[in-house]
Amino acid sequence: MPHTPAMNPLTLTKFVAWIAVAIVATYLLAHRKMTRRVRRAFVIGGTLLFGFVYGALLRSGLNPSPPASLRSVLKAIVQGNITVPVFAMLVVLLLVTWISNKSICGYGCQLGLLQDWLHRVRLPKWQTPFWLSNGIRALAFIALIIGLVAAGLDRIGVVDPFSLFQFSLTLPAVLVTAAVLVASLFVYRPWCRFLCPFGFVSWMVEQASLYRPRINRDVCKNCKACVRACPSGAMADFYAGKRIHADCFACGACIEACKVKDALGWRKP
Ligand code: SF4
Ligand code: SF4
Repeated sequence: MPHTPAMNPLTLTKFVAWIAVAIVATYLLAHRKMTRRVRRAFVIGGTLLFGFVYGALLRSGLNPSPPASLRSVLKAIVQGNITVPVFAMLVVLLLVTWISNKSICGYGCQLGLLQDWLHRVRLPKWQTPFWLSNGIRALAFIALIIGLVAAGLDRIGVVDPFSLFQFSLTLPAVLVTAAVLVASLFVYRPWCRFLCPFGFVSWMVEQASLYRPRINRDVCKNCKACVRACPSGAMADFYAGKRIHADCFACGACIEACKVKDALGWRKP
């Protein structure tokens, strides 16, 4: 299945819709309107629209995804044929991440949304340590680069769970996708946090993001309701004031959980 973004009208509409959704989500987060019900509507609607509807419409071509954009740029760099549209798509996605944390991942990426949806099933949850998930993800990213440079091999293309949305899974992809989806029931976004190359690069970008959960220490009651509500562990890092924080998928659960007026918000510095 091809994975090089072709700038045709349909792929372009998906990029535009992603940006629009990220802007709306940022507005709702900043105005404390990203409630559990609103978030659920985004997760279900986004999975269906960005995953299966675009997957069906783009059955024989590319159904864009953030990691496909990144891999296309890496491949083009290795092959020495980088083009402006391919580069621009990735830059825009990373720019959105810089402005509003992982809002593209939280509300636009089809696989991220599907994992988020599955994680809502009422089963025991396991919060994995960030050093473990990020360490594995860094190694996976390095392996991707080495494969591209040394052998021109796009390792992820072989097992790509995104091909689920176009119903074109190979056997290795079936196995990986099944593992990711089952793991999603117990672990928050396992593909995003353990394996996704865009997840890794955007995690670096989000360390300097403009909008993110920010605590007003003058009114915070230190109840840690926000920390307990966070599915990724990022809020524990924000709360502790760490310089480096775990992935924040802009879900807004922390802000909804905080009942102290003005103590926590989706804010600029
Ligand atoms: S980190 Fe998750 S949501 Fe973000 S691009 Fe990767 S798969 Fe999609
Ligand atoms: S609950 Fe965690 S992942 Fe969600 S917005 Fe807050 S810090 Fe980010």
